[in-house]
Amino acid sequence: MSTQKMVTLSTITIGDILSGSICSGSKKVDPDAILPFIIVPIILVTGTISLNTTVILMGMTGMGVLYVISRPRKKNRSPFFFSWTLSSMLYMYLVYQLVVVKFFQITIIENFVFVTLVACTCYLFYKMKAIADHELTGSSKGKEYSPVLTADSQYCQICQIEVNERLFHSIWWDCCVFRPNYKYFLFAQICAFATIVVGTNYGLTTACHPFMSFGSIVLPENCDHVYAQFRTALIFVTCIYGLGYLLVVILVLLHQLYNVIPKCENPLQKFVDAFDV
Ligand SMILES: [Zn+2]
Repeated sequence: MSTQKMVTLSTITIGDILSGSICSGSKKVDPDAILPFIIVPIILVTGTISLNTTVILMGMTGMGVLYVISRPRKKNRSPFFFSWTLSSMLYMYLVYQLVVVKFFQITIIENFVFVTLVACTCYLFYKMKAIADHELTGSSKGKEYSPVLTADSQYCQICQIEVNERLFHSIWWDCCVFRPNYKYFLFAQICAFATIVVGTNYGLTTACHPFMSFGSIVLPENCDHVYAQFRTALIFVTCIYGLGYLLVVILVLLHQLYNVIPKCENPLQKFVDAFDV
C-alpha cells in the first residue's frame, strides 16, 4: 500500500462513516446500512448483564418493530431493515459457531443438520431477492425496467415502480414479493422456522440444564444460572432474540396461510380444471 493511500485511510473518522461520505467506487455507503451491524451486537452484549436488562431490551426491540410496521409504508424506504435482517442472521450464527460449539455438547451430525438448514435458508432468500432484482431492474440485460402493465399491476411505494402480479413488499428483505419469487419466499420462511427452532434448542440446552424428553429429544430445563458466566448469558440472550424472530416467522407464515395463498393460483384447482369438460 502506498504512503499516500495509508494517510488517506488513517484520516477517515467514524463521523465520515456515519455520514456516508466514504465512496467505494462511485457508490456511497449509506449509514442506515451500517447501523444495524453496530446496534445488534450492542443489544446482545448489553442483555447479558441481567434478566431484567434482557427483558427490557427485547421488549424495546419488539416495540421498535411494531412501530416500524405500523407507520406509512413509504417512510420505510431505507436499507436499514434489510441490514438489520443480515446483521441478526450473521451475529446469531457467529454466537452459535464461536460460543455454543465451543462447549463441545453439539455432535458433528447435529452441527451438520444446523449448517445445512442455515445454507438452505440463505439460498432460498438469495433466490427470492435475485429474481426480484432481475425482474424489476432488468440488471442482467443492463436496461431500464419497462413493465407491461396488466390489470393486477400495483404501484410499490418503496420500490417506486409498477410491479406486475405483486403480492406485497418485504422491507426486511428490501424487495417486492410477487408471483415469480413467492415460492422461494414461502419455502425460505419454512426453512428459517426449522433453522431457528433447531439453533435455539442447541443454544438453550447448552447454556441451561438439559433434560431428555419424548424419547431422545433434549430440551432446556433450568436456566437460573445462565447470567453467572458471560458465555452462557450471551447464548441465552441470543436464543431469546432468536425466539423473537421465530415468533415473527410464525406470524408471517400464518399471514400467508390466511391472506396471500388464497390469492395465488391453486395448482390443485388447475389440475381439476384440466379434466373439466
Ligand atoms: Zn417493492
